Amino acid sequence: MARYNPCMSATESTSTATRLTDQTLLIDADDTLWENNIYFEEAIASFISDLDHKTHSPQKVREHLNRCERATIAAQGYGIQSFRQSLVDCLEQLTESRITPEQYSRILSFTAAISGKKIQLLSGVVETLRLLRQRHRLILVTKGDPREQTDKLERSGLQAFFSAVEIPAEKDAAAYRSIVQRHPCDPSATWMIGNSPKSDINPALAAGLHAVFIPHACTWILEHEEVDPPSGLTRLLKLDSFPELLAYF
Ligand SMILES: [Mg+2]
Repeated sequence: MARYNPCMSATESTSTATRLTDQTLLIDADDTLWENNIYFEEAIASFISDLDHKTHSPQKVREHLNRCERATIAAQGYGIQSFRQSLVDCLEQLTESRITPEQYSRILSFTAAISGKKIQLLSGVVETLRLLRQRHRLILVTKGDPREQTDKLERSGLQAFFSAVEIPAEKDAAAYRSIVQRHPCDPSATWMIGNSPKSDINPALAAGLHAVFIPHACTWILEHEEVDPPSGLTRLLKLDSFPELLAYF
């Protein structure tokens, strides 16, 4: 574990050989427990290649798609359906024409390829959850479409490790405060663990919880954000992999 930035002196007391006991661990799913964003990146690459725009470079198309995604998410939330709508909007706006049935069916094939993927767990996840569950309370906290996220959890075979599952529409500080109240968690013994600064780390710190940042090499660009320094009594750890949690919890 390396200190993430000079502001993280609050992590020092945690980086000892002593493991914490009886904590509540809120654990993200996509790109923390299993691969997710790589499949969206594959679909986007197929979309851009298929569009083969005559004047916009692939990078420009991608930038426009990011704008479409932000707008669709604001209106409809996260999930495959929302992503499909973003691809349709992007195509229509960049071609300045209505989508044809052929183009729509190709977009359907790109998003169907995502839904059809087998859940690929990240390395060491099962063994790590098995041990963490013996020592702590584990709650899965994943945002998005409840049906899609529940389906992925069922297919992952990991449900039994969690005492509860939370699927908020957005993971912001209010969502974390609500989870802490409903389950009830002691903030001084509650950690949010995940790969996204924007959804996992910064809002959890803002809600007065501790956080463990485990970056994924292919984190979705819309989740990128500077990691906030912890303040007050909150602590922040940055780890290279999920199994490293066992050294601290
Ligand atoms: Mg994630």
